Amino acid sequence: MTVKKQDPSGAVREMLLDLDVDMVGIALLRDLKGTTLYKTALKLLPSTRSIVVVGMEIFPEFLELTSAERTTGKPNLNDLYRRHTDILAGRLTGAVYRLARESRQAGLKAMPLPGHGPSVDGRFLEAVISYKLAAEAAGLGKIGMSGLLVTHRYGPRVQFALCLTEASLKSTANDDPHPCRYCNVCVFKCPARALERPAKGESHKINRFACRTYIKAAGGCSECMRVCPVASPRYT
Ligand code: SF4
Ligand code: SF4
Repeated sequence: MTVKKQDPSGAVREMLLDLDVDMVGIALLRDLKGTTLYKTALKLLPSTRSIVVVGMEIFPEFLELTSAERTTGKPNLNDLYRRHTDILAGRLTGAVYRLARESRQAGLKAMPLPGHGPSVDGRFLEAVISYKLAAEAAGLGKIGMSGLLVTHRYGPRVQFALCLTEASLKSTANDDPHPCRYCNVCVFKCPARALERPAKGESHKINRFACRTYIKAAGGCSECMRVCPVASPRYT
């Protein structure tokens, strides 16, 4: 009698259906050869087969309260927005941790990367791995002129976390049209003038140092996300 060999990735695939998040996408390493994402993923977990990307909607109710102006003598409502994104980060981190645990229990190495974003090399403001590139490779959206990942469902109002895993999963990459409308609004409204129209063939052009310096000085800025018309209740 032949014993059917169990598929250790099956439990991970099942758990993907049970994650309490708004978006789930999968990029396969074998499809990413030659890209920066391929190199960075393998640097973190050399046996990575799949990158699972989970996302949650940033509520427009909080985004609308944000301001790019420094507030003195009154409450800074950017703090409320930050609390909201902290909650999302906690939920996302919990989801990728569950997934990684399931993967490891099936004998497949995994690395959950938190919803607060990846660690960043402060010298160049470069992330150890780009969540946006991973989300793009997984077909969840595309990087717009703002440099943010723009999705059809929530525009740029999405926060992500990742799980690298040895599990064999099914790719969700697709050829959906680019959600960015190239309206330039994010470029015009950036108070730091950190955004410019990108050259042909580039998705965006951002001066990350100007952006970071402005955010620090003003106590917050989410203008490029707030003004984007894609899937925004401001324009419906
Ligand atoms: S966060 Fe603010 S400063 Fe940075 S690119 Fe967006 S609009 Fe400009
Ligand atoms: S504001 Fe306009 S140009 Fe900028 S990302 Fe959104 S759709 Fe694209």
